[in-house]
Amino acid sequence: MKRTFNVAIDGPAGSGKSTVAKRLAADLGFCYVDTGAIYRTVAYFLDLLGISPKDVDGVARYIDELTVELAYDSEGAQHMLMNGMDVTADIRTPEISRLASQVSAHKAVRDMLLEMQRAVAREQDCVMDGRDIGTVVLPNAQVKIFLTASPEVRARRRTQELAAKGESVCYEQILQDIHRRDEQDTHRAIAPLKQAKDAIRIDTSEMEIEQVIVAVKEKIEEKRK
Ligand code: C5P
Repeated sequence: MKRTFNVAIDGPAGSGKSTVAKRLAADLGFCYVDTGAIYRTVAYFLDLLGISPKDVDGVARYIDELTVELAYDSEGAQHMLMNGMDVTADIRTPEISRLASQVSAHKAVRDMLLEMQRAVAREQDCVMDGRDIGTVVLPNAQVKIFLTASPEVRARRRTQELAAKGESVCYEQILQDIHRRDEQDTHRAIAPLKQAKDAIRIDTSEMEIEQVIVAVKEKIEEKRK
């Protein structure tokens, strides 16, 4: 079987991962996999059931009742199905961001999702973004990128994104959330957010998104030759 071409993009919230990954996937004709959305779906499901993310046994017990699936619409946009129901829009709230960060630290949750993510990458060329793609999920990805930016720049981007969607947002609150998520994501015991040894680090604080895309595309083209 022909080996698929995989691009792993990791980094903290607001580093530009999903914008870059989405554009790259579209330009290369690859599938885009947003793994954060998968963790968000798990968090949303547990929240609906009233399970606290601190309840280790409860989380382990109830995720057995969840089926998470990725689906793609005619424009190639990823949709999240929770037991068959499309929850794509419901998982994009600050509350679910917080809960996803807590829920994703559980071993039971990470174990459940690992093979699912690997299977997608085995079946098709893809650009996958997340926190542990280059280190754990796809350690053999042909290209690994670690995007980063200062917490202030990331908070400003998130504030603008949410404001553009018409949501009332407070920069200070978003900055606080970003610090808290960074702390949780980088210090958890399993699959913490960290740069893979063979990843290319790009600080996007002072860059336009187009510049980042060009820089990453160059790396991909080098590898595909
Ligand atoms: O990328 P996004 O902000 O949607 O991710 C939500 C949360 O899911 C992150 O804060 C992180 O805790 C978790 N996550 C993870 N591993 C991934 C992707 C996301 O732990 N590969």
